[in-house]
Amino acid sequence: MFGMGCAQLTPFIQNFNILSIPEEKQLADRLAESVSQQMRVTSDTAAARQVQALGNRLVAALPRRDFDYAFFVVEDPTPNAFTIPGGKIYVHAGLLKITDENELAGVLGHEIGHAYERHPTKSLSRAYGVEFLSQMIFRNQDPGRVKQIGAQLVKGSLLTKYGRDDEREADEISYFLLKRAGIPPEGLVNFLTKLNQLQANSAQPPAFLSSHPPTAERIQRLQALIQNDRSGTFRPEGL
Ligand code: ZN
Repeated sequence: MFGMGCAQLTPFIQNFNILSIPEEKQLADRLAESVSQQMRVTSDTAAARQVQALGNRLVAALPRRDFDYAFFVVEDPTPNAFTIPGGKIYVHAGLLKITDENELAGVLGHEIGHAYERHPTKSLSRAYGVEFLSQMIFRNQDPGRVKQIGAQLVKGSLLTKYGRDDEREADEISYFLLKRAGIPPEGLVNFLTKLNQLQANSAQPPAFLSSHPPTAERIQRLQALIQNDRSGTFRPEGL
C-alpha cells in the first residue's frame, strides 16, 4: 500500500540524479582536474598502461557506453580504487602491489559497474544537491570557486559510502564483464578475501572497505553466483 508519505517520498528518492549524461561528462572533467591537483595521478607509466589495457578489455564487454571510460594510477601506497562521475577510474599504486591480474580485473570491473550505473553522480547529488553540482559545471567565470567546490567534491567522493544495493549491482556487473572478457571471475572474490584479512590485521580498515561495504556478504553472494551460473548466461538486471 502506498500512503501519502510514500507517494511523496518515492519520486524524491528516484530523482536524486537529475544531471544529464552531457552534464555528467562536464562534471567529470572538472573533478578530474581537481583530483590531479590534489593527488599524484599518472596515465603514461607502465603501471598505468597495464591498468588501461585491462580496463579497456572490460569496457569493450559493456553493452552500452555513455562515457569515455578512462583509467589512472594514483601514486599512493594504500590499497584503494575509486571512481568519479563520467567513467573516470583511479587505482592506487598500493592496490597494484597486492593484486594479481585477475584480482585487479575484478576490482576494475566493479568500478566500471559503479560508473555504468552512475552511482558516483547519484551519491554526489545526494550529498551536495544537484544545484551545487550544476554550479560546479557552469561557473567558468569563477575558477577559484570551481576549484574550491572541486576540492570538496573530491574529498566527498572519496569518503562517500556506496549503499548495499550499489555494491551488489557493481559486483554483478563486474562478474558479467569478467565472463564476457574471458577473465576468471574468482579474482574479485580473492581480492575481497585479501581485504578482509588486511582489515583483521590492522587497526585502520583499508579505505576501499569503508567506501565499498560490506565484504563478507559480498564474498558469499559472489561465490554463490559463480557456482550457480554454470551455463555462464547470467546477466545483471538492466544491463
Ligand atoms: Zn563498490
